Amino acid sequence: MSEAIHAATLTLDTHVDIRWPDPPDATQETDRCVDFPKMQRGGLKAVVFIAYTPQGPRDAAGHQAAADRAEAMLRHIRTRADGVARRFCATADELEAAHEAGGLAVLSAVENGNAMGRDLARLKLWRDLGAIYLTLTHDGHNDLADAARPKPALGDGTAQHGGLSDLGRQAIAEMNRIGLIIDVSHAAKSSMMQAAELSRAPIVATHSCCRALCDHPRNLDDEQLDMLRAKGGLVQITALDAFLRPPGADGKSPATVADMVDHVDYAVRRIGLDHVGLSSDFDGGGGIPGWANAGETKNLTAELHRRGYGAREIDLLWSGNFRRLIRRVQGMAEI
Ligand SMILES: [Zn+2]
Repeated sequence: MSEAIHAATLTLDTHVDIRWPDPPDATQETDRCVDFPKMQRGGLKAVVFIAYTPQGPRDAAGHQAAADRAEAMLRHIRTRADGVARRFCATADELEAAHEAGGLAVLSAVENGNAMGRDLARLKLWRDLGAIYLTLTHDGHNDLADAARPKPALGDGTAQHGGLSDLGRQAIAEMNRIGLIIDVSHAAKSSMMQAAELSRAPIVATHSCCRALCDHPRNLDDEQLDMLRAKGGLVQITALDAFLRPPGADGKSPATVADMVDHVDYAVRRIGLDHVGLSSDFDGGGGIPGWANAGETKNLTAELHRRGYGAREIDLLWSGNFRRLIRRVQGMAEI
């Protein structure tokens, strides 16, 4: 039963990293958690591949290097689609059309607003290259916002801006204007709450879990979950062990797919099914026993089904809610 639901569902993983530089040929079986053969085998139909730039020095050279890297990665991600078996998608319509045609869908996003430097025009360039969202920060504060996890090696204190900077507020307005979704995973609570207040459009945490179940700084507390609901946004529960269960005596988290669905259940009870989705953070630290790579994706659907979610609910969790988010944010754009 769950196999039939899984086969029919547009399964979308909203956060997957790629190796950079020297990305492998994803049309072949690789040592990565995600490549196209594994997606086919596991019934994972769509992936948001990430143009990620680590937080580094915030000088002109550092910003330029981050901008160059993000742009090169976005251009590379587009080449992963051939237009037939694998389609590049930048809208919900394109994503649904790829699924209906029986193809896999390739989407892209940028992780770390530091790659913008102080040039707001880069946001539109990324959107034009097909990016659907921008994660405001990574680990370490940047010129837009404070991060949930500062980087003392870069001189970070607990907070620098007290949430968003003036530039960060301008970036939120520009992202609303051009229809680029605001991702608050990695952002400090102050940044996240201010972004939610300020944004005209709904926002998302593309790869985070629930702090009530696992007290990790990358997770969202109940007040943050409630804010996501109030703004029509989403939390995309992710398969990263340290976010799902505290570490045991050996320092390792024993999290499994059952723990991940515990977080889904918690978020659904707290803010409703319409505000919850799924992601892996594969090739960026994600992967747990039962969902260790894209080839095992059907196990997550099976666990959801075992917990009582039916075809309609599973569709909403896997991509229905995120498709609605894309439509809302792009529909509110003023270009
Ligand atoms: Zn991340």
